[in-house]
Amino acid sequence: MTIGGKSVSGEDTFAVLNPSTGETAGYAPKGSIKDLDSAVSAANKAFESWSQLSDEELQAACEKVTAKIDENAEELANIITLEQGKPLNGLGSRWELGGASAWAGYTSGLSLPMKTLQDNNEGLVELHRKPLGVIGSITPWNFPVMIAVWHIMPALRTGNTVVIKPSPNTPLSTLRLVEIMNEVLPAGVVNCVTDNEEGENLGAAMSAHPDIRKIVFTGSCATGQKVMLSAAETMKRLTLEMGGNDAAIVLPDVDPKAIAEGLFWGGFINNGQTCAAMKRLYVHEDVYDDVCTELVAFAKNIPMGDGMAEESILGPIQNKMQFDKVSRLVEAGKQKGRVLLGGEPGDGLFFPATIIADLENGDPLVDEEQFGPALPIIKYSDIDDVINAANDTTNGLGGSVWSKDIDTAKEIALQLECGSVWINKHGAIQPNAPFGGVKSSGFGVEFGEEGLQEYTDIQVVFS
Ligand code: NAD
Repeated sequence: MTIGGKSVSGEDTFAVLNPSTGETAGYAPKGSIKDLDSAVSAANKAFESWSQLSDEELQAACEKVTAKIDENAEELANIITLEQGKPLNGLGSRWELGGASAWAGYTSGLSLPMKTLQDNNEGLVELHRKPLGVIGSITPWNFPVMIAVWHIMPALRTGNTVVIKPSPNTPLSTLRLVEIMNEVLPAGVVNCVTDNEEGENLGAAMSAHPDIRKIVFTGSCATGQKVMLSAAETMKRLTLEMGGNDAAIVLPDVDPKAIAEGLFWGGFINNGQTCAAMKRLYVHEDVYDDVCTELVAFAKNIPMGDGMAEESILGPIQNKMQFDKVSRLVEAGKQKGRVLLGGEPGDGLFFPATIIADLENGDPLVDEEQFGPALPIIKYSDIDDVINAANDTTNGLGGSVWSKDIDTAKEIALQLECGSVWINKHGAIQPNAPFGGVKSSGFGVEFGEEGLQEYTDIQVVFS
């Protein structure tokens, strides 16, 4: 672990498995509450001077961190592939590092200058943005480095310090990322602790910790709710980025062949293990058969294999729990729907891209977040009915509408209950556009100026 700029071992370690082979990818330290306390106190101490840096100094430091990420991109991509399973190529770990660099670079260039709210003979009113203190970052296993960067960079840019705790499934790339960042940052500015299910739950301890001012959490709805409950006692600020069950609505005027590739990657990016992936595909009856045919024609040629093989474009499911969930939902889907592709588990944690048609709301594969390579297709005939069906979920992360008529698509898009909505694509997030969920998908946003603001308190000065 990295605590106060030093490498620290836990009393014990735990094995991290390579999902492609089942072999050990490496060992991570089993951190304790004592380690967490040291990390928080190192971050608190570092905050004293880090928070006093000028805006220009913070920007320059963040640019140095970005350069370090770029310099070490290939090593980090290899670690991600070994522990997460996603291929090096395609939309895999090298792509994830490209994203991490783009977000780090863009966030470095943002700033939140003082705003004058009033300047007249009745007085001067200024709005200042001040850093919060120690930020606790808790991350999931699907994009371990990119999501760590999403949490850490805006915190640093606004003068905060950080303690990050990655998922026990993918701690190795975050441990290394933080080590690399520490080559150019003062001691204690970014710290990393790791845990696993058998040890002390450091995520729970972080959300209750009296010296952490804010938790930025990305993960499941169930865990996010626990974070929110325990954060109440210490009045922590929260950004909660949680699960999604994104709907895509295909209108009757589309060219099925032209949209097949976009539909496929909308649903199967990172093997479907993506918060804002398309998880339910609603297709108008006029183009239903053609969309099914074209989607399958595209999907069946995507090579799946060991992430370290340069030719692999899809890898395994990351862990057994997720594999079992996908298997259960696919089994349920097969009882009622028509399997167009896949449907049978492969070796180890490999599950082939699976497409099941003729399902509807109420079916488990439609109602539950599958978070894996299995897409249900639902036929509709009436636009109001399909909007209701799309909104009939407690989640509200993303959504999409597919049509040649952009104005009509936008009208429908505005009726979807979700934080981001795309026309003729799905899940295409970018660093200058705030991203976040509504309903049970969480609250608060990441990215852009609005995302940066979440790492600050407002202070208004009246003179
Ligand atoms: P998870 O909720 O199981 O774990 C997330 C993190 O929380 C891990 O680091 C875990 O160790 C930690 N944790 C466990 N118990 C805790 C507790 N009591 N208090 C605090 N932290 C605790 O999620 P996961 O399985 O790693 O990730 C998959 C989920 O994440 C999916 O639902 C997916 O949709 C969601 N996700 C959302 C986004 C988004 O931006 N909205 C992005 C990626 C993933």
